[in-house]
Amino acid sequence: MRTATDTPDRTKPARVFFALWPDAGTARRLDDLAAHTHASCNGRRMRRDTFHLTLAFIGDIPRERVVDLITAGDRIPAAAFVLKMDRIATWRHNRIVWAGAREVPEALADLVARLNVVLVEAGFPVEQRKFAAHVTLLRNARADLASDEIDPPIDWQVGGFALVESDRREDGAHYKLLKVWTADSPLKD
Ligand code: ATP
Ligand code: MG
Repeated sequence: MRTATDTPDRTKPARVFFALWPDAGTARRLDDLAAHTHASCNGRRMRRDTFHLTLAFIGDIPRERVVDLITAGDRIPAAAFVLKMDRIATWRHNRIVWAGAREVPEALADLVARLNVVLVEAGFPVEQRKFAAHVTLLRNARADLASDEIDPPIDWQVGGFALVESDRREDGAHYKLLKVWTADSPLKD
């Protein structure tokens, strides 16, 4: 049965962002890491199906402009690459515990740069802060981490990118993939 909560309200702005979305195996490993870290840091764990890495945050836009974002995304080749998640850290100012990569692969830096170009060209606001590749694992964490290593690292086989809508509810944000761009050529070893 459809309910008021799953019928998009055409008059409501859409809160959107481009992101990398992990495959099930990567999400499982991130979830295991979150569980392990939660044991010492407490805080609120993100649901496994919400893990993502934000590439470009756009924010609230009129819903009819989503199509312009899809056109912008269509201009970018979706590359396949490995993102070696080998670092876990805390941001004290917002008490987030996140997983990241010590090295941002060129393909990822490239993707972010290209997104910013097409977004500006399409008249969307872009983030002025330096790109920080991270996947949020815990919010409101109450203790520092014992180690900043993810050992063994999580090799995330990135196969494309997505345009995502965020629906912030009382129980946390829910995300909907509006479009996924998949790399033509699979990852080479
Ligand atoms: P909530 O805000 O409900 O706690 P959330 O932060 O996951 O949940 P959103 O605020 O919709 O949900 O953000 C979606 C994604 O975009 C998240 O990864 C968030 O960190 C990122 N994000 C939000 N605001 C900005 C911003 N101003 N600049 C860069 N990234 C942002
Ligand atoms: Mg937020």
